[in-house]
Amino acid sequence: MHLLTLNCGSSSIKFAIFDSDVREVLRGQIDGIGTAPRISAKRSAETVIDRHLEDANVSDHGAALSAILDLLRTEFPDISIASVGHRIVHGGTQFSQPVVLDKETMVKLRALIPLAPLHQPNNLAGVDAAAEAFPDAVQVGCFDTAFHRDQPWINDAFALPYRYYEEGVRRYGFHGLSYEYVSGRLREISPAHASGRVVACHLGNGASMCAIDNGRSIGSTMGFTALDGLPMGTRCGQLDPGVVLYLMQEKGMSAHAIEDMLYHDSGLKGLSGLSNDLRTLEAAATPEADRAIDYFTGRIRIELGALAAMLGGLDAVIFCGGIGENAWRIRKSVCEGFEWMGVEFDARRNRSGDAVISTDQSSVGLFVIQTDEEIIIARHALELIRQ
Ligand code: AMP
Repeated sequence: MHLLTLNCGSSSIKFAIFDSDVREVLRGQIDGIGTAPRISAKRSAETVIDRHLEDANVSDHGAALSAILDLLRTEFPDISIASVGHRIVHGGTQFSQPVVLDKETMVKLRALIPLAPLHQPNNLAGVDAAAEAFPDAVQVGCFDTAFHRDQPWINDAFALPYRYYEEGVRRYGFHGLSYEYVSGRLREISPAHASGRVVACHLGNGASMCAIDNGRSIGSTMGFTALDGLPMGTRCGQLDPGVVLYLMQEKGMSAHAIEDMLYHDSGLKGLSGLSNDLRTLEAAATPEADRAIDYFTGRIRIELGALAAMLGGLDAVIFCGGIGENAWRIRKSVCEGFEWMGVEFDARRNRSGDAVISTDQSSVGLFVIQTDEEIIIARHALELIRQ
């Protein structure tokens, strides 16, 4: 009997199959949903499929999920799905642990869609599609917000009238499954660093940073929605709320038009006028592309200082996500010049793809860790089902 994990992002769906001992059987993804969909999957590190899906008309998440489920049925008939684990971006104040996704829970999760309009609908569409395809399977939701729910009050609140805090207008923080994985992995690689003061940087199309004290999140750059903090591929990051008021009152923009701009046309894309994709910007090397990259790394450096202050010092930094794991130039721009904080960066290690990119003498360890949200979902789901 197998467990399927589904991780529905804004333009991709990652999936994986695990056996009952949490051993990986298959892993794959569809990316480019709505633009140039491509499906790929690997079994025991061997590519079993990698092709464009032009004929399949994969224009939305529902169609992409059908393509994944078709693939499983036709190419892997030996796989029998008994349970499905889902990444759910927003758990609100109510869900701080993995939960079985029954009808009542789904109603509560749908009510959180306005707090994560880019992700939550796709996550919940994944649950509906899996329920239809595997009606007897237990479905479990694992929340990106859960890792941050214990953070101290001052890092959880906004300075608005207090009733809004009570109503749930809080800094939830996201990327929690990724942070849980990388901080656990750091404990295996270097237990001394993991039990100290760690700043983890999840840098991908979505990007955030998290202050982790001995494995526990005490603060994050993301807030009420996944818009706050760092600039991202298309999202704006930290913004004076007065800008939103100005756009409404002086420019006559509707809430919907502003939402669209902040989620889809800002960040690296908005600043460069070229692309949300870092590889494209690095290759372009135009002043506009460089300006966007400089802003991105500048904000990471500001947040690194702020999160280190929150932790009362710094013992380790983790880089993960598509940019954090692969973009050596970004890691270099972020780390250099932090000697005053005890950071000694090793440029050669950084370029050669080492997991440790600090010098042996550095009092702050710098680590590159490939994140794995899928295995965290699988572990949580199987644990819950066995209870
Ligand atoms: P993610 O959302 O985690 O998949 O990360 C996507 C981002 O990672 C995009 O901006 C990519 O351009 C970036 N990325 C992936 N691989 C590389 C690479 N080798 N060098 C620079 N950026 C990369």
